[in-house]
Formats: sequence, structure tokens, C-alpha cells
Amino acid sequence: MDTGKQKFEHDRQSGEAFELRFMGWANRAQRGCWYEQSVGNFKDWDLHCPHCGRTVECKSDRLEQQTKNYCFELPLLQASKADILAYETFSDLNTPSGFATIFVMRKLREWCRSYYADHRNALVSGGDRGANKMLLVPRWKLQDVDFKAHVHLTRTRRAAMDELLQKVQQ
Ligand SMILES: [Zn+2]
Repeated sequence: MDTGKQKFEHDRQSGEAFELRFMGWANRAQRGCWYEQSVGNFKDWDLHCPHCGRTVECKSDRLEQQTKNYCFELPLLQASKADILAYETFSDLNTPSGFATIFVMRKLREWCRSYYADHRNALVSGGDRGANKMLLVPRWKLQDVDFKAHVHLTRTRRAAMDELLQKVQQ
């Protein structure tokens, strides 16, 4: 049995399931928005709303709960053109927590760049035969930053994304 392939399939599926869950939340969170999934292996973002033009990258991380690290892949930080990164967390390996942490991508990228400057060993290799580079950041390091919000995917209906983006505009 090829467990590597199986795990990849599982991750891909749970990633797509999160995109749909987050899209449902985002469409409820703000009147008039209708987010759409990008087609195929589009690198710039995962979700786009033609109403406000906002774009979202979705990441589902089953290990964050165990490792207490956020894991930001380098291609995600460097290549994504999304306004928002939606980061899904899990209660255990197979149970989504029902919450997502949303980051303002531009601010997160700046923050990670300066974090990496002081923590070179935070950049590790992993994923497909170690070909992916990722930055591991202990969760508490991002505890008090102002470019992040916590949303409950079935309850938070207010315009949390708007408020977050407005807050960091100054
Ligand atoms: Zn919109």
C-alpha cells in the first residue's frame, strides 16, 4: 500500500473540503459577496470574489494542533497574490476544529521575512521527497500580531475579513 500517496490524497481532499467550508463562511460573512474557487492548479489564489475583488489562499494543516507550529510553505509566502490567508486548524488529526485563523497575506509575508532573518533554522525541508521548503513558526509567536483574526466557520457572520483588512491599512 502506498501510504505516501494515500496521505497526499487525504491532504488534497481535506484541503478542498476546507476551501468549500471557508467559501461558505465568507459568502455569509459579508452581504453581496459570492466567492468562487479558482480552476485547476492556479497559483495566485484559491478563492476570488467578483463582488469586492478579494482573494483568499486556503491552507489546511492537520499537524498544527500537535506541533503547535504554523507551517508556511515558501511558495505560498512568495508566490501567492491572495489578500487573505485562511488557515484551518484541527482538534485532532482527522477532526477540523471548526475555526480558521485568517491572516492579511501582505503583513504575514513581511513578518515571516523578518522572522526568518533572525531564525534561519526555522526554514526546513519537507513534503514531497523534501522538495518543499517551509517556515515553521511556533504558534505563540504570532499570538499578538494585529494582522490576524480568529473566525468560527459556522458562527462568525460579521464582516471579519473587512474589519481585519481595515485595521491593518493604516
Ligand atoms: Zn466580495
